[in-house]
Amino acid sequence: MRYNKRMKDCNSCGKCCVKYSDGGLSATDQEVDFWEAFRPEITPYINAGEIWMDPENGQQLKRCPWLSQDSVNNKYLCSIYNDRPDDCMHYPVTVTQMVEDECQMLEVRDLRNPDQAQRDLDKLMIDSRPPVLGNH
Ligand code: SF4
Ligand code: SF4
Repeated sequence: MRYNKRMKDCNSCGKCCVKYSDGGLSATDQEVDFWEAFRPEITPYINAGEIWMDPENGQQLKRCPWLSQDSVNNKYLCSIYNDRPDDCMHYPVTVTQMVEDECQMLEVRDLRNPDQAQRDLDKLMIDSRPPVLGNH
């Protein structure tokens, strides 16, 4: 049966990228191997599985190097979107996290009924998550 979408789509406000790219993301060995093979320009920003690091000194960057802001509409863009880290792809995971992060996918009706909102989120994200998260 076709899913009747309820939760609003991401509007690229950029809050999650800004918040989590300051030390809140990591990459698996498989992701690093993939980037080394297919996106070598990404690898200088990895240090022992930690992302995103300054290629000059290996220290944590304050802002993701792949995040930019569209000057016309102020929306944020990810220049490696199709090959972004799993941590980015899986966000948001819970409505609680979205509330904490003031994610703009949430509407008043979601805040009034967070259990339904979580079910809506799980359906919306089913193709973005690993089976253990997306299979319920
Ligand atoms: S890699 Fe892309 S999605 Fe992840 S924090 Fe950077 S800009 Fe955001
Ligand atoms: S905080 Fe929510 S609405 Fe904003 S970019 Fe992240 S997922 Fe999209």
